[in-house]
Amino acid sequence: MGLTYRIYLSGNRIFGCGKCKTHLSTSEHIMSKDFHGKTGRAYLFEDVVNVTDGPQENREMRTGLHTVVDIHCCHCGFVVGWKYIKAFADREKYKEGKYILEKMLFQEVV
Ligand SMILES: [Zn+2]
Repeated sequence: MGLTYRIYLSGNRIFGCGKCKTHLSTSEHIMSKDFHGKTGRAYLFEDVVNVTDGPQENREMRTGLHTVVDIHCCHCGFVVGWKYIKAFADREKYKEGKYILEKMLFQEVV
């Protein structure tokens, strides 16, 4: 399943898929650690690699209605979080095109 070519990251701290450790992002790309996912704490990232998008859906969140896609690890298909496609409230627009990785669903890769 998925792509055979994967991007390898370098950074202070590298975060990978919770299942197969495929690199997803680094600590340099964290915009906020104060988010909540389905499984608890989640981080907002500026950039995430090695993921494929699920179907778009509108989801009602604490901060209002957003269009999102679930993001799947491109190697094993595990859902690691979601990407914001559209925020309906002006104050939430900064999240558009940004990624959520749930802390329970990724791991630090050393
Ligand atoms: Zn994976």
